[in-house]
Amino acid sequence: MLTLQDVSKEYRSSRARTPVLAGISLSIAAGELCALTGPSGSGKSTLMNLIGLLDRPTAGEIKIDASPVQHLTSDELAAKRNQALGFVFQSFHLLPHLSALDNVALPLLYRGISLGERRKQAASVLQHVGLAQRTSHRPDELSGGQCQRVAIARALVTRPRLLLADEPTGNLDSKSAEDIMSLFLELNAELSVTSIIVTHDPSIAARCPRRIVLRDGRVFDDNRGELRSYA
Ligand code: ADP
Ligand code: ADP
Repeated sequence: MLTLQDVSKEYRSSRARTPVLAGISLSIAAGELCALTGPSGSGKSTLMNLIGLLDRPTAGEIKIDASPVQHLTSDELAAKRNQALGFVFQSFHLLPHLSALDNVALPLLYRGISLGERRKQAASVLQHVGLAQRTSHRPDELSGGQCQRVAIARALVTRPRLLLADEPTGNLDSKSAEDIMSLFLELNAELSVTSIIVTHDPSIAARCPRRIVLRDGRVFDDNRGELRSYA
């Protein structure tokens, strides 16, 4: 579902070239739940920006569902991002004046879906994340863990092929963090949501079946990678 072949990334300015990722090759199959870990500065955010189609590699090939993305225009990349990817962030990014239901329904607004149908689909996803009883609450009436559930529901309401979560437990106490990780495992098992979770929390990473460790811009360890062919 996602393959990277010899991907590298350099940041260039007039005075310097800073290599950040080098020779990254990996393949993630539909249905995998994958942690991306590594020390600060190892390139996790840079790699997530490439996979999230927010930035382009300096060299190498990225394919989503077997189609290469490097020839797409910026508009086509944005369309692919909206159609294929869901994003979850450390700091939730919910709209404070909207209910949980309307926050989750929002990504459907630009898809020509009626208000009634948007709310119906949002309610269904909120039920999947365990918030059926909180749909009319605003973010300031919800706990951090509940806000992150709303944000996960918002990411899933468009039925993305791949869910990308950047330090999704970074703003949560350890109990809420463990609960959110349990939710990712449930969503993966029940809805086959393919997910990549960036985390520096070893107890979160340990619960992901697949663990990719970056170090100095390279794949230092990948507990499943050696079983895969990149052909
Ligand atoms: P991580 O998310 O693992 O902490 P990052 O991908 O944020 O790592 O950063 C990897 C390296 O790339 C760091 O050395 C960082 O300083 C450098 N870097 C990140 N963004 C830029 C940029 N826009 N220009 C130059 N260097 C950058
Ligand atoms: P922080 O908690 O440090 O703000 P986040 O994980 O919330 O970090 O955000 C990570 C990065 O993603 C930030 O650089 C932010 O600007 C960017 N970002 C946040 N929301 C969106 C969005 N909806 N679409 C694209 N990028 C976003």
